[in-house]
Amino acid sequence: MTLHFSCTMCGRCCRDLRVPLGLSEVLDWLRDGGEVQLLCEAIPWLVEPAADDPAAAYKFRRSFAAMSGTLPLRVVVTVVAAFEGPCPHLQPDLACGIYERRPRVCRIYPAEINPFIELRPAGKACPPDAWSDRHPVLEVSGRYVEPSLVAGIDAFRDADVGDVGAKRMLCALLRVSSTALANEGFVAVLAEREAMMRAIGAAIDRAEAIEGNACAQSWTVVSNRRRSREALASVDARAVAPEALPDQQKYLGFHASSDD
Ligand code: SF4
Ligand code: SF4
Repeated sequence: MTLHFSCTMCGRCCRDLRVPLGLSEVLDWLRDGGEVQLLCEAIPWLVEPAADDPAAAYKFRRSFAAMSGTLPLRVVVTVVAAFEGPCPHLQPDLACGIYERRPRVCRIYPAEINPFIELRPAGKACPPDAWSDRHPVLEVSGRYVEPSLVAGIDAFRDADVGDVGAKRMLCALLRVSSTALANEGFVAVLAEREAMMRAIGAAIDRAEAIEGNACAQSWTVVSNRRRSREALASVDARAVAPEALPDQQKYLGFHASSDD
């Protein structure tokens, strides 16, 4: 299948977002007065997957090892710029006010970062006219064709992997040890801007110090589904309902709460 695309400058993709950022981008975003959140999700990692499993290798590279009780986890932390309504950098003429230094994700939209997620126009904010066959080719059979777009996606993925150690340290510094289950939701961590800037700066400086001590921090897995909590408890993980989270953390579930 071939997808054509050209941005219509409608500005729809610059509203009501959580924009994933690399840690160096986070510092710029905070200095500009923006807000960020940490989104934590965890994958139970009971057995090492096959060495030739590319999806598992992708998850492994962008996560760190942790334990919840006796259950091994891989924790993925995504730092996002969060805003309701228009992005603070969106100008009245719908241009980006920081165009030359906008985040990597803004540069590649509507392409997907995750190589295992198919680009579906229906899932994007872009209007139908942006996908007209009159426009240049964006993707052929799941492969993006524009070299600068491919380079932008690679740059984001490289930064994502390169930030893992610092994110692990960031969680330790902010005393964050609660996570949602991957595919069920996120635990979103909020912090005051100055405190977040200090913690990120320290985490980048000290990322190496935590290497080899990956499992020292015990994690709690949060779920709004009783069945998931019971399944976790049955393998000696620490599982709680969202109500147990402290004030600065909230559960963003993909599914309705369930007592079944
Ligand atoms: S930084 Fe610029 S491109 Fe990115 S969401 Fe904000 S206005 Fe849009
Ligand atoms: S939603 Fe799509 S078409 Fe509209 S500004 Fe964003 S990238 Fe361009």
